[in-house]
Amino acid sequence: MSSVDFDGVGMTSRRTRERLIQRLKDKGIDDAKVLEAMRATPRHLFLDEALAHRAYEDTALPIGFGQTISQPYVVALMTQALLSRRPLNKVLEVGTGSGYQAAVLAHIVDQVFTVERIRPLLARARERFRATGLRNIVSSHVDGTTGWPAHAPYDGIIGTAAPEGVPDELLLQLAPDGVLVLPVGPENNQELRIIVRVGDSQHYEEEVIERVRFVPLLSGVSG
Ligand code: SAH
Repeated sequence: MSSVDFDGVGMTSRRTRERLIQRLKDKGIDDAKVLEAMRATPRHLFLDEALAHRAYEDTALPIGFGQTISQPYVVALMTQALLSRRPLNKVLEVGTGSGYQAAVLAHIVDQVFTVERIRPLLARARERFRATGLRNIVSSHVDGTTGWPAHAPYDGIIGTAAPEGVPDELLLQLAPDGVLVLPVGPENNQELRIIVRVGDSQHYEEEVIERVRFVPLLSGVSG
C-alpha cells in the first residue's frame, strides 16, 4: 500500500472513529475515561492492512491463527466494568491477541501486563505497542490460565478468552478489593462475569453482566 493510501486510511479513521464513539455512547457506555481511551487508540493499526478499512465497524474481526480482535462495544463494556469498582493502577490481561485491548487499558492505568500463548500474535502486538508509543505495557509469551504470578497482585484482571470455569490462580492474584472481568463457559453459552475480591479476604462477589462469545482459553503455549 502506498503512503498516500495509508494517509487516506488515517484521514477517514478520525471521522469513522468518532462515529464509533457515538455508537458506544448510544449503546450505554458512559465512562468518560473509556470513551477517551477508545478515541485515542487507532484500532486500524491493530489489524492486518487488508482489514484496516473495517476497523471502526462495531464488529469482531479475524487476526489470524483462528483468533479475533474483540468487538469494540465488548472492549468498552469490559473496560468500563473493570473500572467500575475502585481506582486501578496495575492490570493483567490474559489473551493479548492483536494488542488492542491492552492499548486501550494503557491509556487509563499506570501499568498493563499482558500474556499471550501464540508467539507470532504476541510479536505483532509488541510491534504495535512500539509503533503507537505505548511504553507502559509489559508482555510475555506464557499460558495465562495461571495468570502471571511474578507481577501479582493486580488491582484488576481482564480475560479475553473464555475458560469453562474461573481459574483459582486468577482469583489468588487479585489485590484487596481487586476486580476480575472474565467471560466464562463453553463456546455457545458464555456469560461475562465481574468478580470482586471482598477486602483482603478470600471471599468474592460475582455479577453476570452480559451474554458473550469469546474464543476458548486454552492451556499451554504455541510457538
Ligand atoms: N484482547 C485481544 C483479544 C484476542 S482473542 C484483542 O484485543 O485483540 C483472545 C486471545 O487469547 C487469543 O489471541 C488467544 O490466543 C489467547 N489465549 C487463549 N488462551 C490463552 C492462554 N491460556 N494464555 C494466554 N493467551 C491465551
